[in-house]
Amino acid sequence: MLSKRIQSLSESLTIAITSLAQQLQREGKDVIGFSAGEPDFDTPRVIKDAAIDAIEKGYTKYTAVDGIPELKEAIVAKLKRDNGLEYTTDQVIASNGAKQSLFNLFQATIDPGDEVIIPAPYWVTYPELVKYSEGVPVAIDTDDSTAFKITPEMLEKAITPKTRMLILTTPSNPTGAVYSKAEIEALAEVLRGTDILVASDEMYEKLVYHGTEFTATASVSDDMFQRTVTINGLSKSVAMTGWRFGYCASADRELVKAMKKLQSQSTSNINTITQHAAIKGLDGSADADIATMRAAFEERCDEAVRLFNAIDGLSVVPPRGAFYLFVNHKAVESDSIVFAKRMLEEVGIAVVPGAGFGTDGYFRFSFAKDLETIRRGIGRIAEFVEKYR
Ligand code: PMP
Ligand code: GLU
Repeated sequence: MLSKRIQSLSESLTIAITSLAQQLQREGKDVIGFSAGEPDFDTPRVIKDAAIDAIEKGYTKYTAVDGIPELKEAIVAKLKRDNGLEYTTDQVIASNGAKQSLFNLFQATIDPGDEVIIPAPYWVTYPELVKYSEGVPVAIDTDDSTAFKITPEMLEKAITPKTRMLILTTPSNPTGAVYSKAEIEALAEVLRGTDILVASDEMYEKLVYHGTEFTATASVSDDMFQRTVTINGLSKSVAMTGWRFGYCASADRELVKAMKKLQSQSTSNINTITQHAAIKGLDGSADADIATMRAAFEERCDEAVRLFNAIDGLSVVPPRGAFYLFVNHKAVESDSIVFAKRMLEEVGIAVVPGAGFGTDGYFRFSFAKDLETIRRGIGRIAEFVEKYR
């Protein structure tokens, strides 16, 4: 008999659809996958070399739960260099991907009934992990009209005496929306004087386009520095999804200690070899590789937006960051599950239905694929939409 807690947890829809597409491909079906939230690039050479070196040097044993000192110093230096944030090494912790950082954070801060405000569309994992911590996810619905961003008025309305936390994702998965400094400052004004925490997921920080400036949520004021827990990692910007490295930073040392305690009883330190490799992803050694990947994503983004907006019945707000398009298909079909299922069955294209992100009538298309595949895939989607009835 399974626990009630685990029975109420849903499987990650993004992973489920990507696995289904891969299974169909293995069976010989002509399926093109645009569902994965994963760069198609290889991990940069300098990072692989650091990992090989770590193996050769015998760095293969347990380490401190929160990471080796050199890694934590590299995280602190990165946050200072890129974001102007001043942390010390006891305010950061390395985990098995940002996913574990989020898990640790929710487990360490949420009591039964605590409300967590999550702007929708949201990344599939947030509400599930909040519920797993016995918290209550409270969605704020957004759409194309505010470029999928919440306004201070929307935030104000969603706050109740039970609000414990706000989750901000900038750049956003699944919409690519990026909050400007002024927009974060305006949200910060609403939070001033409350004891609401902010979990700022900045996983796609390095992937911003057309001169968009990224602003770290914790950097806008001392008040925000105190209440914000920054979550980040190297999975997306440095193509390290399989290495499992993410981190979290907070001004609150007691909170960091609590997350470390939980990790000490669950997974302990992250893979030691990954820790040595991750330093090279943080310290600037891979910056040229990151710039090359970012430029490729920008080109693909432009092409995909152009092609989608040329299809009668579909529309997309050009994203400012990340590598997803959140495509509006309401003119053709309002039910995103039906639409995505039929697209997979009829033309072999895998995308993630918007309903999984809390917003129906859209699908998420990942442009982390080469240009040729993107053109071929959107060509098939155009045929599918034209014949849709
Ligand atoms: N945050 C966001 C917004 C994501 O899209 C992802 C994707 N997996 C993660 C966190 C988690 O990344 P990881 O666990 O690979 O570090
Ligand atoms: N975050 C990625 C996505 O949204 C990877 C899959 C997952 O962890 O959910 O597709």
